[in-house]
Amino acid sequence: MSDLLARIGKDGLRGALQPGYDLAGLTWFRAGGPAELLFQPADEADLALFMERLPADVPVTVIGLGSNLLVREGGIPGVTVRLSARGFGQVEPEGPNRLRAGAAVPDKRLAEAALAAGLGGFAFYFGIPGGIGGALRMNAGANGGETRQRVVEVRAVDRSGAVRVLSNADMGYAYRHSSAPADLVFTSALFEGEPAPPEEIRAAMEAVTAHREAAQPIRSRTGGSTFKNPPGHSAWKLIDAAGCRGLTIGGAQVSEMHCNFLINLGEATAYDIERLGETVRARVLASSGVRLEWEIKRFGRFPPAREIAEFLGEG
Ligand SMILES: Cc1cc2nc3c(=O)[nH]c(=O)nc-3n(C[C@H](O)[C@H](O)[C@H](O)COP(=O)(O)OP(=O)(O)OC[C@H]3O[C@@H](n4cnc5c(N)ncnc54)[C@H](O)[C@@H]3O)c2cc1C
Repeated sequence: MSDLLARIGKDGLRGALQPGYDLAGLTWFRAGGPAELLFQPADEADLALFMERLPADVPVTVIGLGSNLLVREGGIPGVTVRLSARGFGQVEPEGPNRLRAGAAVPDKRLAEAALAAGLGGFAFYFGIPGGIGGALRMNAGANGGETRQRVVEVRAVDRSGAVRVLSNADMGYAYRHSSAPADLVFTSALFEGEPAPPEEIRAAMEAVTAHREAAQPIRSRTGGSTFKNPPGHSAWKLIDAAGCRGLTIGGAQVSEMHCNFLINLGEATAYDIERLGETVRARVLASSGVRLEWEIKRFGRFPPAREIAEFLGEG
């Protein structure tokens, strides 16, 4: 038994506790290191009990479906929480024009549930490969829609194990960002749409798919848009203008198709991917004076002798 697991103990917990869990397979990049301890709670009450018990000095990291995530090879210290589809994977109607979705529900399934309920405004979710927990944290959006337009309230468990309910305003939404406290694990959310004819909703979903197929390397191992669009700029145009389209480091490449996407060509390490990202940032800074900001979340420690400086120390 790992030291951390021994400290926490399993008594009364119904979820799975797995020390040294390799997270690479849980990320879209299919690269990266382990979690010191992975906890997959059985349900919200199990998560609350776990958080209440967890010693205050143990760091907690939450991951969703790993589509916006890079885990460094040194691994994530402390506990990594991942919500299981069994405990957090339900979507149900809750009052007129509203749906409640568990945080492990894939965005795509929320879009399908909205179609079944005759609710418009959710088609953008059809093309986003993450889950609702990640969408709530990232204010995920596409094709003119954003999470903040649909959220009524969010349920969460905080670091002390208390269940909290946050309003849309409490989520503090901005572009690809929520300022809700970082220690919250979102467990479900209530969403609202507008009644719409099914054929209209279906057409909007088909348009989302067509756009993705044409413009994004969606079948590659990637983390989606790597950098946020800086105010007044498109990240991909700055990257292209800096000559980075197709740039390759180790097994990682700037996508030829959409140069704000980084791709694992097969054998890339998280180190290759992050070094490529920082190289792109350094070149964009040199060519345009713009400091790109990572949209992809990077978690965990660098392995020994493999630290990567921001802008490779050139900024
Ligand atoms: C091919 C591709 C296309 C993409 N296109 C888009 C797009 O069009 N628009 C867009 O917005 N994004 C896009 N993304 C990025 C990604 O899908 C979204 O950011 C998504 O919302 C991340 O959800 P996730 O479940 O994968 O979260 P993860 O990547 O696992 O985590 C992302 C963040 O969410 C937090 N988080 C996850 N679950 C919870 C929870 N339950 N409670 C609290 N915090 C949590 C994590 O701590 C982390 O900070 C794309 C990604 C890929 C690979």
